[in-house]
Amino acid sequence: VRALTFDGTVVLRDVPPPTLAPGDALVAVRLAGICGTDLEITRGYKGYRGTLGHEFVGEVLHCPSAPQWEGRRVVGEINLSCGTCERCTTGLRNHCATRRVLGILDHPGCFAEQLVLPATNLHAVPDAITDEHAVFTEPLAAAFRIFEQVPLTTAVHVAVIGDGKLGLLVVMALRARGIPVTAIGRHPRKLALVAGPGVRTTTTDTLPPERFDVIVEATGSRDALALALALVRPRGTVVLKSTVHGTVELPTAPLVVDEIHLVGSRCGPFDVALAAMADGTVDPRPLIDARYPLAQGEEALAHARRPGTLKVLLEGPPESCWRREDIYGDDGR
Ligand SMILES: [Zn+2]
Ligand SMILES: [Zn+2]
Repeated sequence: VRALTFDGTVVLRDVPPPTLAPGDALVAVRLAGICGTDLEITRGYKGYRGTLGHEFVGEVLHCPSAPQWEGRRVVGEINLSCGTCERCTTGLRNHCATRRVLGILDHPGCFAEQLVLPATNLHAVPDAITDEHAVFTEPLAAAFRIFEQVPLTTAVHVAVIGDGKLGLLVVMALRARGIPVTAIGRHPRKLALVAGPGVRTTTTDTLPPERFDVIVEATGSRDALALALALVRPRGTVVLKSTVHGTVELPTAPLVVDEIHLVGSRCGPFDVALAAMADGTVDPRPLIDARYPLAQGEEALAHARRPGTLKVLLEGPPESCWRREDIYGDDGR
């Protein structure tokens, strides 16, 4: 099957068809999203080699252990946990020490015609939302993760630093919950996508004078932590969303003196993200800047790398291709 792979350089090539372990589902990729993490991987993040990509919506082709999934439109959680270790059995599946991660760690990703995930990772996509919504489920879930970590009410003063894809999704998630938010970015075009009732937008040139209870740092940049610390009030909270390759120099004294909470934040609840899109409180589609067929995957990644670009999507092959039985075995399924 065709796949966009990274082994020091990004190459579109044919890879062997995926094989199913017990409990696995074979999924045809309908649409995939290019994320900042994918770009970081092509700069060396995690040392990952293999098929890229972890944001997708697809259709289940084959699932011997749970055939009720076959033919359903799905999104999938990206962490493949062992299910039996102490972390897995105490509610920390996403932190399983031996986990693999779709397109990030020891498991081929979704920038391919097909992918494999355990059926337990799948979530059905409600009919009310399009593929263009659903492909945002993974990053939108990551945005909703902050509600599980930080007590947020309409009385909390929140600012989001970063007007990239994830920053804007965090603003959308806050807006969906009726929480007033200040969105701080560098690009008026992008900030305009989330402007509206309950959202104040400002560029880094005209920073607000006040300090905030909660700062969400979602710039994807190494330098933004200092700005976050400058904007948070004493005993406030800084939520870190950026995964950058490399290290950040951090003066720790202000953290101690101001008693700042630093909260790392990663994967979030898919069901919450799907529900927010299904009921219309979040519509991420304005973030789509371009779409390319998988066959032009290299160009798509190059486009996504251009400064100022928001979401670039990769289209899987048309249904008429992957519905042919010869692609996935000779049992006619
Ligand atoms: Zn991502
Ligand atoms: Zn485990």
